[in-house]
Amino acid sequence: MQQILFALAFLATIIFLFRSFWRIKTNFKRTKKQPFDGQFGKRLKLTMQVAMGQSKILRKPLVGLMHAMVFWGFIVITIGSLEMVMDGLTGQHRVLGVLGIAYDIIIASGDVFAYIVLLGILAFLFRRAFMHIRRFEGTEVSKANKRDANIALAFILFLMLSLIGLNIYDINSHGDALAGYYPISSYFVSFIETGKTNSIFLFKLFWWMHILLIFVFANYLPYSKHFHVFMSVPNVFFSNLEPLTYLPSMPEVKKEVELMMSGQAFETAAPEEPIRFGVKDVDDITWKNYMDSLTCTQCGRCTEVCPANITGKLLSPRKIFVDLRARMEERSREHEGTQNFLLGDYITKEELWACTTCNACALECPLNISHPNLIMDMRRYLVLEEGDAPEELNAMFANIENNGAPWKYSAQDRLLWTEA
Ligand code: SF4
Ligand code: SF4
Repeated sequence: MQQILFALAFLATIIFLFRSFWRIKTNFKRTKKQPFDGQFGKRLKLTMQVAMGQSKILRKPLVGLMHAMVFWGFIVITIGSLEMVMDGLTGQHRVLGVLGIAYDIIIASGDVFAYIVLLGILAFLFRRAFMHIRRFEGTEVSKANKRDANIALAFILFLMLSLIGLNIYDINSHGDALAGYYPISSYFVSFIETGKTNSIFLFKLFWWMHILLIFVFANYLPYSKHFHVFMSVPNVFFSNLEPLTYLPSMPEVKKEVELMMSGQAFETAAPEEPIRFGVKDVDDITWKNYMDSLTCTQCGRCTEVCPANITGKLLSPRKIFVDLRARMEERSREHEGTQNFLLGDYITKEELWACTTCNACALECPLNISHPNLIMDMRRYLVLEEGDAPEELNAMFANIENNGAPWKYSAQDRLLWTEA
């Protein structure tokens, strides 16, 4: 009976997860292609360093270590969760116990990390509730965003409590016959005075609580900022490997220029679909931009170091990706012909032109999200499609057009100042 119930719960989880991922896949299909340059070795090294090693997070030792512990703990505990799924489907108990010493190591790590993650989450909840952390505030951090963060933390808290509960009562009901090594839970068992029958009941209760929480949490994640649980590793793998200040040229413009330089512009250029220069809406972004928005944890580390934000400008780099994700959500529910756009309805021109392209945000982001490239693409739309640039830039554009330089003097007059 329990096996059937488990199989039904598992099936429902998979179906709902599939639905969510299908919706996300459809959103990805709206985005534009971006060539992938391979470099697997370099990308793997970066992933091990930034995603698995948490190198950027660890730049702030205390908070960084707490976060890294929760991340590493999650990885180890996931192995135990996979075993629970196998147990549930096969009706066995601790099915991976046959792995012997390897199993002892996995279970011991999971047991230790369960307590570490529990303490970490309690500290995070305390910080959110009672400490005023500037980077947790901002116009883009709505009540719903804050609620989402607290819900996810509460999920993890109860996941750890149920894991600890199931370990303790499993040890108490099976004694030395139990597979695996539980360095901390076996210590706490000495404080338990529950009889064997009740221990078995409590073990099963915590076991079901834990697995059902995992199923519900997994389905909550695609709608939460905590989706980075799934996305952070692949997003770091697909990081931009160019130097941060590198600004990619626009392929459409580059092609035109190359054709003109070769003198074949009008002979060879085939009529093409009209394209839009730059980014106006989510249909113009690349798949990597969308992936960045799904990965963003809304931690605010980018905004915290943004000189524009610090000096009171409207720009918050975190908001760019919060808005992008929200707009994509809206776009996926929208019928053709709806008049909302990412640029204008979500992100204003004032925000975009406040960016100094210093790249401090991209450097600081623990998940290697690149803000300036997207900001530049929206500016490109404003300049190339709308002819809408700030006054100072328009003067410079005119000078480049007339004099081949950003200054208002022609090349012949450049040295006149030496004769004055
Ligand atoms: S873009 Fe990066 S640094 Fe900024 S809020 Fe998102 S995850 Fe944090
Ligand atoms: S690149 Fe722009 S958004 Fe990023 S930190 Fe610098 S000014 Fe802020």
